[in-house]
Amino acid sequence: MNASKKCPQCGQWSRWTQNPSDRCEHCQSILDPVTVARQQARQERRQEEDQRFTIDFIRINPDEPWFTRFYKRIGLGFQIAFASIISLFLWLIALLAG
Ligand SMILES: [Zn+2]
Repeated sequence: MNASKKCPQCGQWSRWTQNPSDRCEHCQSILDPVTVARQQARQERRQEEDQRFTIDFIRINPDEPWFTRFYKRIGLGFQIAFASIISLFLWLIALLAG
């Protein structure tokens, strides 16, 4: 499906394939900068959330010797138990405060 869109930079009409990252045929500027910025912000937020999760929990590396993995697994179990207790507390506080 082909459409055309007026370039926000130079004001000329340019071919547009409904893709927000399409660029103007005349000045090479992005035809839909608002959507592109929104998509980038969403992507960055998702990456931040992924990073936060991997930092919070111990990463178990399969190349490590079995005892290291064993201890890490115990530590990870404690971390998950601790995280559940914390979230239970937060839930209780929210319940009591409300
Ligand atoms: Zn243009």
